[in-house]
Amino acid sequence: MLDTTLAGSLPKPDWLAEPEKLWAPWRFEGEELVKAQERAAVEWIQHQEDAGIDIVTNGEVFRAHFVHGFLEHISGIDWNKKTAMGIRDNRYTVQVPTVTGPVSRPNPVHLDEVRFTRAQTGHKLKFTLPGPMTICDTIADDHYGRRADMAMAFADILNAEARELEAAGVDVIQFDEPAFNVFMKDVKDWGIDALHRAREGLTCKTAVHICYGYGIDENLRWKDTLGSEWRQYEEIFPALNASRIDQVSLECADSRVPLSLMGLLKDKDLMVGSVAVTADKVETPEEVAATIRAAMTYVAPERLYPCSNCGMVPIPYDVALGKVKSLAAGAALVRDSL
Ligand code: ZN
Repeated sequence: MLDTTLAGSLPKPDWLAEPEKLWAPWRFEGEELVKAQERAAVEWIQHQEDAGIDIVTNGEVFRAHFVHGFLEHISGIDWNKKTAMGIRDNRYTVQVPTVTGPVSRPNPVHLDEVRFTRAQTGHKLKFTLPGPMTICDTIADDHYGRRADMAMAFADILNAEARELEAAGVDVIQFDEPAFNVFMKDVKDWGIDALHRAREGLTCKTAVHICYGYGIDENLRWKDTLGSEWRQYEEIFPALNASRIDQVSLECADSRVPLSLMGLLKDKDLMVGSVAVTADKVETPEEVAATIRAAMTYVAPERLYPCSNCGMVPIPYDVALGKVKSLAAGAALVRDSL
């Protein structure tokens, strides 16, 4: 009950990559890089276990970015053909690579790191993959013509990958779909269909992480335009509740998402974001406990997974570590009082 977990990435140590930066370049290459990533993963798993996190992750320390870390291993993409794209409906302009032919996965992408990570811990293990819609909003298309068609092609690839990761011992596979919070009509038209294709045949738990993004300036400015109540989720939660995805995330720490929206997900497990991803403060265990208790007005503790709001890769390592500890300690406070 109240099993704790993390929504996404954790900061890379400064000896592995430049800290507090998205798309940070690595400080190593080749086999040395793999060894350094393994060392960083071991450290984060140890930190999570010491803190008392129940469902651990490797912190995504093996990938430079949550979407492109996957796409780097996919064929059909021209990395030299960069296209300027206003991603997340023009929230950021990024030079993205371009799909120039049918996409395929010549080899497993994350299998080696999952085997390594699985061997490091007896805890339940979560692994995150980018969702098909978010992939399509982070790469340019010069081949498929329709975004929905490209999403289905990526969903097939994700499904093959996810089946191998499940066989390697992953307990929860989470698809990261921040784009679900931007293209709400597309979610209902084809986004959930693409997720279903990505999860087909899996027997492990499946999750979808939707969010208002990292605690970086572009997002903070965008959030300021969203008004006093953030109701974007209201439009897609009924469709997600009817979906075959087991768990859905939402941000509850330092956010303006009305908690009552959880009432739209009566048939799902909820990952309740209880620590924010901004670097300005570390929540106390009591603050985390208060967030969890507020969420329990709408969701029974058996379905409630205290979690981080989103990925923490752009914030300082020590701040993220403090948040991981408070998350586990806050959940323990609530558990003890039940
Ligand atoms: Zn997120």
